[in-house]
Amino acid sequence: NTALMEKIVSLCKRRGFIFQSSEIYGGCGGVWDYGPLGAELKRNLRNAWWTTMTREREDVLGLDASILMNPAIWKASGHVDTFADLMRECSLTNKRVRADHVDPQEGVIMNYTGAEAPTGWKLDRVISVLMKKGEHIESLRKRVRTLIASNAGEAAGKPEEIVLLGEAKGDTVEKSIDFHPETGGALGPARPFNLMLKTYLGPTATEDDVTYLRPETAQAIFAQFKNVFDSNRMKVPFGICQIGKAFRNEVTPKNFTFRSREFEQMELEFFIKPDEAVEIISGEVAQWSEGADLSEPQANWGWDLWHRYWVDQRTKFYDSIGLGGVLEYYWQTPEDLAHYARACVDILCDFPFGTEELEGIAARGEFDLSQHQKHSGKTQEVFDEELKNAAAKLTAEQKEALIQKRLAAEQAKVKGEPMPEADVRAWFERLFKGNYVPHVIEPSAGLDRMALAIIANAFNETEKVDDKGKKEIITVLRFHPRVAPIKVGVFPLLKNKPELVAKAREVYALLKKHMNCFYDETASIGRRYARQDEVGTPFGITIDFETLGEKGPELQDTVTLRHRDGGEQERVKISDLLPKLLAAVS
Ligand code: ATP
Repeated sequence: NTALMEKIVSLCKRRGFIFQSSEIYGGCGGVWDYGPLGAELKRNLRNAWWTTMTREREDVLGLDASILMNPAIWKASGHVDTFADLMRECSLTNKRVRADHVDPQEGVIMNYTGAEAPTGWKLDRVISVLMKKGEHIESLRKRVRTLIASNAGEAAGKPEEIVLLGEAKGDTVEKSIDFHPETGGALGPARPFNLMLKTYLGPTATEDDVTYLRPETAQAIFAQFKNVFDSNRMKVPFGICQIGKAFRNEVTPKNFTFRSREFEQMELEFFIKPDEAVEIISGEVAQWSEGADLSEPQANWGWDLWHRYWVDQRTKFYDSIGLGGVLEYYWQTPEDLAHYARACVDILCDFPFGTEELEGIAARGEFDLSQHQKHSGKTQEVFDEELKNAAAKLTAEQKEALIQKRLAAEQAKVKGEPMPEADVRAWFERLFKGNYVPHVIEPSAGLDRMALAIIANAFNETEKVDDKGKKEIITVLRFHPRVAPIKVGVFPLLKNKPELVAKAREVYALLKKHMNCFYDETASIGRRYARQDEVGTPFGITIDFETLGEKGPELQDTVTLRHRDGGEQERVKISDLLPKLLAAVS
């Protein structure tokens, strides 16, 4: 829904939620700045996530690691070798497009990312025209322009430039990129393009000094796993979470902030015992079944129950910020899964441009810590006294039965190489002594995507007819009070009555220490309410003559509290305001 998206982008700019980065210089592709209201919204989301994920839990600790790290980390994690998207390059324009952004049905010419383009060309519109071999490039451009004019008209905006995919010789099309009609796959070259942003760290600025801006926050958690574990006397299961910037040189950033090149992630790595350790300690491993009680984690849970538990926890979080009703879940199939992943669920959300991923929750086995153990030469194992004691009580037959079960599972593997028998036996030997590398469940969310989801789903338009019969479109952002950038507007009824202004200032001073408030004394009270509705402020407080006691002593020191949703108004004592509002917004 392009029109809706355009309205959202325009509101974000007009009211100071999100601006194009470097706008006065024509912008900078795929990066965005958050204005005053956007900054507050993001801060609220960050705080909500942090509170839920660590403050309110005994088993999760926080971390704030650096963006620049030793590049060996990215080698160990696999990012240097495999963190790439397939890309196509247009030899006419040298523009690059992510291969899966080329529409296999329609054709091959497109211009993306109106939001990215300096002027004109609005949002993310795909123009597709089949290129004809031998056609002059100008005639091709003309066809594209005609198509735009006839199809979309003025409303959609005129493209500033047209990106062509194909190969040219001189001024003529030499080779178009065709599509295989059955598979939808593109013929023609698609090359891997590493998404990590390179930089130099050190004085020589040569290849020796190359490092990367982190493409995810997760790896720092793995790299600091032992330090956090040892310095806090933790026991598995426990988690480490982090919020921070991540950078990806996305080939085609698009859909406003949804796919950016600089963004913020909120990630938890939750470390659990391998199922075999659970079995040795508890005698049995509880596995997922329909209707399993996920409210309280249990000591005998296997990885699949932990995975489901975190999907459930994250769902509750989204409920608490008002996104509960618009989520969908995609359970990756064995073909979708990375070779080391045991399961992965994408939490999807409804956006104006489609249903897209907000967060991924993956069960990653011991892959990450094992990789770092292998590459750094430093053990990432933990020692578990309880496991050692329980293993000491097993008979030789019981131990062998565990080994045989694992060997059979290795043979039945759908993806990846089965572990050789000698390695399996060596692994059990360490396990029986109480040592293992923890396994990981990873809920990984994007803060910018979450903010966009919140804005898009809060966006609401209604038509209003004023006294003179004139129609007006009213925009209201129905933010959940917990995430709303401004919690309450404070308004003296009239600005030329010093007593009203003084009292309103007093109420404002009382509240602003505890929440973000906005004081406004200009224009009619209706206008002031409307301005706050448009930015999603859930409450408005009006200080009127009743407050001053001019309409009788019983209403003295009470104010009108107006609710954004529904518009109802109630009289509230000033002394009751703070607890009432705090309960609603936290
Ligand atoms: P996608 O398939 O959309 O590229 P991904 O599967 O690569 O995403 P992950 O690597 O799992 O994403 O990252 C976890 C989360 O980080 C995503 O669910 C998303 O919310 C966020 N994220 C990833 N890439 C971007 C981006 N370019 N811009 C904004 N947020 C992003």
